[in-house]
Amino acid sequence: MLFMEKLVEHTAPISSSLQHGFQRQNIFSSCFLVGLVQSPIDLNRTAIDVAESHSALKLSYSPSPIKLENNGWTIINHCEGDSSLVFEGRRYALSQFHFHAPSEHTIDGRHLPFEMHLVHRTEQGELLVIALLFDHGERNEFLATLWGILPSVGKTVETQEQINPGQIVPLMSGYFFYNGSLTTPPYTENVKWILIDELLSISEDQVRVYSAIFGKPTNRPTQEAKDARIKYYSNGARTNASTRTISKLMELWTSPFSEQNKKKFSRRRKGEDY
Ligand SMILES: [Zn+2]
Repeated sequence: MLFMEKLVEHTAPISSSLQHGFQRQNIFSSCFLVGLVQSPIDLNRTAIDVAESHSALKLSYSPSPIKLENNGWTIINHCEGDSSLVFEGRRYALSQFHFHAPSEHTIDGRHLPFEMHLVHRTEQGELLVIALLFDHGERNEFLATLWGILPSVGKTVETQEQINPGQIVPLMSGYFFYNGSLTTPPYTENVKWILIDELLSISEDQVRVYSAIFGKPTNRPTQEAKDARIKYYSNGARTNASTRTISKLMELWTSPFSEQNKKKFSRRRKGEDY
């Protein structure tokens, strides 16, 4: 997650402090950590509560011209136009989306090859991020529209071609929710995180192309979050057997609302083996 979108707007060259941000972030995070949850975190079964009801995601995304910026640790597409979503009755406008390789969030301690963040904010500046996790597989056609024109470090690319992020967010998926932080300085907290359960596909070649631009990992390490509670909303989704999801990766439940699995789940929460 990014804090630098504002910086990018106001300063032309990338400052050296930004370029070195990843090396310095652990020092930074210990300064800013005040007992709340810092992102990213590990999604593990012991931290997850299955929610009985859900807050539906209402996305209203529209196409806007491609406007890519490489700030030295991620490539951002700045979104103009009126794309927004409504969550818990509040409207959040989509300001940008960007990428991390490998994933920032982990599943039971394991990274996935790639993660995309769609950053939204209310008029009052409250933040909400939709995170999409990718596993190796077929070439991703949405990403393919950008991959041929990805800017090198410090460069921007603008085209008249339009891109609609609504094409990549699986609306019918369940999702995980927690309150976290930005994953870049100043690590602002009270950021709403929505991690879409359905895993998207990215080819190994697409990951290679992205990673080669930076020559280093572009993820913040997961932060210790002992008391973090993550809610899982099935969203009424009926994913078919072939759909890959985070919850299937966890091999926690076949149906998140089945009584049997709930009992297993609560035993696991108490630390019992079964
Ligand atoms: Zn991010």
